[in-house]
Amino acid sequence: MPAVPALSYSSFRTYQECPLRWRFLYVDKLPETPRGYFTFGRVVHSVLEELVAPLVVPTARRAGENDRQRTLDEWHPPSGEPIAPRWMTSEELLAAYDRAWSSEGYTSPEEESRYRALGREILLRYYDFLVRERPFPVAVEEHLEARWDGIPVHGYIDRIDRTPAGGLEIVDYKTSRELSSEDARESDQLSLYQVLVENNYSEPVEGLTLYHLRTLTPLRAAPRERADLVGLHDRLGTVMDGIRTEAFEPTPGRHCSRCDFQDRCPEFRSVPAAEAARLRALVDRFEALRAEENRLESELRRTAEELHRAAEELGVHRVPGSRSVAVRRREEAWQFSLDHVRPLLERSGLSERVASGTPEEVRRLVRDPTVDPEVRRKVAETGARQVKWYWELEDASS
Ligand code: SF4
Repeated sequence: MPAVPALSYSSFRTYQECPLRWRFLYVDKLPETPRGYFTFGRVVHSVLEELVAPLVVPTARRAGENDRQRTLDEWHPPSGEPIAPRWMTSEELLAAYDRAWSSEGYTSPEEESRYRALGREILLRYYDFLVRERPFPVAVEEHLEARWDGIPVHGYIDRIDRTPAGGLEIVDYKTSRELSSEDARESDQLSLYQVLVENNYSEPVEGLTLYHLRTLTPLRAAPRERADLVGLHDRLGTVMDGIRTEAFEPTPGRHCSRCDFQDRCPEFRSVPAAEAARLRALVDRFEALRAEENRLESELRRTAEELHRAAEELGVHRVPGSRSVAVRRREEAWQFSLDHVRPLLERSGLSERVASGTPEEVRRLVRDPTVDPEVRRKVAETGARQVKWYWELEDASS
């Protein structure tokens, strides 16, 4: 079995969307066609890193360090020189932008110049905002790794800031068109970053922020509670198991429109011309058989119903045919109205006894002599017995 590489948020999301695409990217390492909006995001991120890096004062305590927080005055870089945060000028910022610019992936010179102008505007406006806000970054573009209860994960965090209360705030820049507060509250990416920061720093994460650069809007969310992270951990575990067992099935969907590997994907590959006629005949035969199967199923149901009516009228359960005997059997099941059962049990503090809500669970409770008889009676009254009749064939000679 191959070793499973540490999962980043984007690798996790890619596998969830389509395991085969994950294999093309992360096992076969096939290149993707550059796209302008990705290039744009990368360039803006790299300029923001250049802008913020001189402001970073790494005062945050690493996991395992003692619990006394270092202050700016106490912190000295390895050279021994005290640190002096330095702000770029806006001209330096634009020069950095020009240096970082890449034309890769744009579909036309017009598109490229539109994006380039947008980038200048975003960076200048964000620069003004940052100068006003004076954040206190403790890390920028930091690569963090962790083993989250057995699952190796990693990620690059755009920025980690010191909060006024002394904790840490995770900031992720977004250059996408639209973003809402719900995105920040539900972002798996921010949840994963919280786990990474908590595993690498010993100070508490106090805030999670998606920073929407186009509108200069910080979308803030509270850190996730333990219980909120369980679902993500389960989904990461499922992805890891899939990768470990090499489960790389194609999963088509809307995302296929931006997949570069359609020519390698069985979902999009055409039948070779030499095989087309043979396979067409097979499909036609399959279609005819499926229609016949449906016709037979409904005829079988009608015949069984007619037999059932006749057996009811005559009060018989065994009906001889020429070669077999049709024997009427019955199956019984109890159904309970959970809408009525649950409030009853909640009032009696017994909700956990019917956690999955199956009829068997409810019937066990009704039979349990340790439960208040009045509760059992009321629960039993919500039940209805359902009887299903069906026919079996026996050999007439047996
Ligand atoms: S074309 Fe669609 S189904 Fe095929 S690999 Fe790409 S994303 Fe997956």
